[in-house]
Amino acid sequence: GKGRSPGEYRLYQPSTTHLPAHQMIALERDLHRALNEDGLRLMLQPIVTADSIPGGRVTLSGVETLVRIEHPEHGVLSPDTFIPVAEASGLILPLGAWVMEQGLAWLAAATRQGLDTLTLSFNVSAREIHAGGLVERLAEGLARHALAPHRIILEVTENLMLERDEVVLETFNALRSLGCRLAIDDFGTGFSSMSYLQHLPFDIVKIDRCFVSELHTEPRQAALVAAMIEMGHALGLSVTVEGIELNEQARCCLDNGADHLQGYYFCRPVPAQEALARFITL
Ligand code: C2E
Ligand code: MG
Ligand code: MG
Ligand code: MG
Repeated sequence: GKGRSPGEYRLYQPSTTHLPAHQMIALERDLHRALNEDGLRLMLQPIVTADSIPGGRVTLSGVETLVRIEHPEHGVLSPDTFIPVAEASGLILPLGAWVMEQGLAWLAAATRQGLDTLTLSFNVSAREIHAGGLVERLAEGLARHALAPHRIILEVTENLMLERDEVVLETFNALRSLGCRLAIDDFGTGFSSMSYLQHLPFDIVKIDRCFVSELHTEPRQAALVAAMIEMGHALGLSVTVEGIELNEQARCCLDNGADHLQGYYFCRPVPAQEALARFITL
């Protein structure tokens, strides 16, 4: 972000360009097949609040949707592999639409089972925002499933976005007018986290898990996380910390005022069809 004049745009290359062409083509074919032949799988991971750890009460606050491809030969493919290809090829649009419909249907079912305050978080790519129609599709899905917009959170990573892009700002404003909330995902890992917070109307900061791994043993990391939480609060944002694997990490985040926690320590991502039974007893 150095040496830029104000208002100048930057475009980051998707990481897929580092993959050999034949691998990209194979992944694109896998994606096509998954979309057309029922090969996508929806996973849900809890986002919780806690009063103390260990031993305190942990409350399920929301779930994040995470997509997988079930490949007929290679097993489960990770989104870190195929999302960049989906973005580059445009297949992120039908994929995002599939995830949204599955997620809303699940939330409607959860609501009927009494989980009527649970929030649902979607990961949204810059490409989906720039394609247009996202807000309308979400509004239509919410109405059809009789769900309140305030239960939806859209998570956006800074990597592929342009923080001064009018389309992004308009879309964000429309989503907030609808009643949905916006989270900046993987906070602190990109080149322009601060610039995003300055220019775009976020409600939630999700601190990336790379700041959490040594939290319980590294005073520097603990200081960094504490400062990020304080900064989020100073801006009036709610702070979620991702990637909590140990109770010491959870305790450290709570001691520093984190609002929500997410990670394997609480629960790994669960297949959507098993999630209701699992989460109702959480
Ligand atoms: P993300 O949105 O930051 O999601 C969190 C990732 O961290 C998930 O990886 C989750 O499984 C993993 N995780 C959660 N808790 C822990 C933990 O305690 N330790 C560790 N080591 N990892 C943990 P996943 O499911 O592989 O997804 C990777 C990324 O792919 C996501 O990062 C998101 O950026 C993207 N993604 C996933 N689903 C979608 C989707 O439907 N649409 C879009 N556009 N992107 C998606
Ligand atoms: Mg996310
Ligand atoms: Mg993240
Ligand atoms: Mg991520």
